[in-house]
Amino acid sequence: MIEDTPAPPGAQPDELGAVARRERLKSVYLTARQCTACPQLPAARTQVVFGGGNADADLMLIGEAPGAREDEQGVPFVGASGKLLDELLTDAGLVRADVFITNIVKCRPPGNRDPTPGEIERCRPFLEEQIALVRPRVIATLGNFATRLLRGEPDAITETHGRAEVRTVGGRAVRLIPLFHPAAALYTRALLDTLRDDFAGIPGLLALPDLPQPERAVASDADVALTAAPVAEPGNAPMAPDPIITPTPEPEAPAPGQLDLFD
Ligand code: URA
Repeated sequence: MIEDTPAPPGAQPDELGAVARRERLKSVYLTARQCTACPQLPAARTQVVFGGGNADADLMLIGEAPGAREDEQGVPFVGASGKLLDELLTDAGLVRADVFITNIVKCRPPGNRDPTPGEIERCRPFLEEQIALVRPRVIATLGNFATRLLRGEPDAITETHGRAEVRTVGGRAVRLIPLFHPAAALYTRALLDTLRDDFAGIPGLLALPDLPQPERAVASDADVALTAAPVAEPGNAPMAPDPIITPTPEPEAPAPGQLDLFD
């Protein structure tokens, strides 16, 4: 492990110390904010909402897509559901600065419509890279879209919520806990109670020992997707290799607010 030194060219995320991983994450952000891969989203967005928080966090929270407030401010979960998320974090003894928060889609879908399968797919490499670089030990998926993407299975959140599983996502073995989306819980008292109960399980997950990590894949296999697979235990499916995108940082300064979140 190389701690806190500049990243050697071509080094894999799991060979990097926290400072080098954070620097690489900034490069991924600079690439993401230029992204024009989707037909509708670049013209509709004010800015790319990359996500942020602690770039070496043990806990990553993954939502669906930015809403209007997030699009304006460039920060995920700053609207009403963000306030609820902050409360849930406080109840769990955490604050935003402890965790990394992002979405599966980094641009606001026009009119707050659901993200399309194509948008989710095109944005997925950014999420994979975030997971590989932040190296969370626990991932909480918020709502159906994030849960289905990270589990790689179609089960509804009503079936999967609150039950932690060991999964391999983005090349990392993590404890994944599906949760109801805070926006849904805002309007339904019973869901709010369930979300609170499920969220209360997170500190216990964070206290569990580190999981064994899958062996790294060779570079030629590197663009395999964020297919969730049960972690290696005798008889299980092989690990998904680390996905890599090659960041092409722009020299210009990052938007205010976004990278502050990494501090
Ligand atoms: N809902 C989400 O899924 N993400 C946000 O950032 C805000 C609301």
